Amino acid sequence: MRFASLGKTILCFLVLFSFLVSFHAESTEAAYSFQAKVTADVLNVRSKPGTTYSIVGKVSKGQVVTVLEQKNGWSRISYGTKSGWVSSKYLTAITWTGYVTATKLNLRSTPGGSVIGTLSKGTALTVYGKDGTWLKVYSSSIRKTGWVSASYVTTQKPIIKATYTKLVFKVNSNLRKGPGTSYPILSTESAGTFVDKLSEKDGWVQVKKLNGMIGWVSASLVRDPATVLKGRVIVLDAGHGGYDSGARGVTFLEKNLTFTTTLTLTPLLQKAGAKVILTRSTDKYLTLAQRVNISNYYKANAFLSLHYNAYSTTSTGLMTFYYNYSKDAPLARSIQNGIVASTKLRNMGAKYGNYHVLRDNRQPAALVELGFLSNPYEEKLVATSSYQQKAAQGLYNGLFLYFLPR
Ligand SMILES: [Zn+2]
Repeated sequence: MRFASLGKTILCFLVLFSFLVSFHAESTEAAYSFQAKVTADVLNVRSKPGTTYSIVGKVSKGQVVTVLEQKNGWSRISYGTKSGWVSSKYLTAITWTGYVTATKLNLRSTPGGSVIGTLSKGTALTVYGKDGTWLKVYSSSIRKTGWVSASYVTTQKPIIKATYTKLVFKVNSNLRKGPGTSYPILSTESAGTFVDKLSEKDGWVQVKKLNGMIGWVSASLVRDPATVLKGRVIVLDAGHGGYDSGARGVTFLEKNLTFTTTLTLTPLLQKAGAKVILTRSTDKYLTLAQRVNISNYYKANAFLSLHYNAYSTTSTGLMTFYYNYSKDAPLARSIQNGIVASTKLRNMGAKYGNYHVLRDNRQPAALVELGFLSNPYEEKLVATSSYQQKAAQGLYNGLFLYFLPR
């Protein structure tokens, strides 16, 4: 506001200056055109600058007109499709605020003249008027008046995107109106919900949901999502290999599909900071004991054995097995939820299974069946790269949610 009025003051000087110039040199035009507001209740528009000339129109109070030229206390204006002369006394110049869209914009002494300053992107400018493709502006940031190319100025205020820290709910938690349990509950958020952190107070954080809702949650119930998988040792076991092909579809072999899935999942986990260990990185045979040994040796935080199923030509769906209820079931449930949500295949549940790779595993372990190769339709589906992406994302999400409260 203070600068806007400073801008107006400068404009007044400019108008006065051009008036003085025109007073001496009979017909000097205003250096630029600008918008002005009519201050008289009704103002006569005349054919020429003077009260003796004929009235060609009227403009009324508050109306915005374009001043094209100024001369001896008279302004040549255009309004709508009409134009004519009015007394300059009954006009006030209006400025507008423009914003720099170029990374660097030169401020020049005259339209196309020498550079007197540089304005950075997003800088607010007071715009007085224009001359062709040039705008006369005042920049409060460098306290200079000059000319800039109109192509790099917009009336649209730039949206400065604040970069908030993301947080994720570790467990299902209440979002409250204030920083304490005495405040009313606004909503209940499920584990895995992402929010923006706004502020922090007394062990509580103020967060903003995707829908814009703002509330408070105890700092112990949320965490930085980047820390969830960071440093976790995850052993991925591509089922079968070498002469053991596993299940056979019309076209595809289980050992190749399981290998593809581990290769699709690996970069997702690595990007999140996990340490991924593959039981096999080529098409080779491994005993079940060898697979388990790798998990135990590396003290895996999670061991996943990936498989594709075979039963009848109409079988369909996903299942995940655990052996030890307390050690393995939470991982299996989380993985099952992740792959069902991501692939939308039938949910056959997380269930007990007496498998060697689970039974002898000292680490949290799960065996996943990612679809039926005995069903020709499902075989075709699971072999697509889009399904592989979804399956890998589902396994990733399952692991993320498993580690989230841990
Ligand atoms: Zn298998």
